[in-house]
Amino acid sequence: MQLISHSGLATWLDHLAQETTLIAPRNVDGVLLYRPVQSSGDIVWDFVRPVLSVKEAFFPATERVLTIEKTGQQIRLNETVPDGERVIFGVRSCDARGFLAMDALFANTEPVDVYYTTRRENTALIGLSCNEMGETCFCTSTGGAPDDPTGMDLMLTEVDDGYAIQVITEKGAALLPEITLQELAGEIPQPVLNDPVPFPPMEAWPPQFNDAYWADMAERCLSCRICAYVCPTCRCFDVRDEPLPAENGSQHFERIRCWDSCAGEVYRQIAGGHNPRAAKGDRMRNRFFCKFYYYPEQYGPVACTGCGRCVDACPVNIDITEVMHAVQRLAEVEP
Ligand code: SF4
Ligand code: SF4
Repeated sequence: MQLISHSGLATWLDHLAQETTLIAPRNVDGVLLYRPVQSSGDIVWDFVRPVLSVKEAFFPATERVLTIEKTGQQIRLNETVPDGERVIFGVRSCDARGFLAMDALFANTEPVDVYYTTRRENTALIGLSCNEMGETCFCTSTGGAPDDPTGMDLMLTEVDDGYAIQVITEKGAALLPEITLQELAGEIPQPVLNDPVPFPPMEAWPPQFNDAYWADMAERCLSCRICAYVCPTCRCFDVRDEPLPAENGSQHFERIRCWDSCAGEVYRQIAGGHNPRAAKGDRMRNRFFCKFYYYPEQYGPVACTGCGRCVDACPVNIDITEVMHAVQRLAEVEP
């Protein structure tokens, strides 16, 4: 493995910022987010994880997917496919692991989502290992680790004299700086881990479907959907057509898609007003069943990377790790 000094890394990132769009953790009015930076000096280095996951660089909170031009009876659709290469630096392992779940739907299932996959193809990920897990992190309980390189192109881990560089993909190798890197002499330090939380196996979930636990647990939920918006694997969206100013006798519209969440009150409401998940308990149950049962059953990956963001963000302290404890307990009582 190779070693880059602290100053060598700063110079390399400055170069990347000149050559391409470099996205990295940045302080935006007191909120840490993945955003474009102009130089290494803009980057925040000491952090657990940005408030929003790196998902938003591939699946934005709101994006225009089409413009629609209507002239008389003629309708023309123009797809607005993203372009431009990007490098994202400082990606946490829990976020890159989230791509297992995101890719399963958007890239590996027909119809392929051209907006998401184009960004995936045009973007290289440089990971930054966590030296220790944050207070609410539990990535080691969902198959990950603070230094897990899954999904990265390059993985950096801080050592005494700089950063160890692990090359994961050819895309990553092509990014390496044009300076001679030293060979890493010592061992890479192991991250400090939290105690694991129970990870109920898939078969533990269906028997708990009708348990009173869900209504009790969800009573305090505000249906605010923040838990889904901060999550690196939640991928539900809504699509709307909005009018644009008329031009040259034609009507113009934009089709936008924006994040949505099964925690929202009207998410499942259908024509005629019927809502099969009108009760908060049903919605919360769906959220957790989706992460640990429905999604892995249908697509393969578990839809939780243990990043802990939803635990930190929920205004009424609904804690996914408590749900995992509860399902494990219920499964042991009623196997
Ligand atoms: S801990 Fe919460 S926010 Fe993080 S991946 Fe799991 S469900 Fe999503
Ligand atoms: S963040 Fe908390 S209150 Fe808001 S929808 Fe999610 S669980 Fe409910």
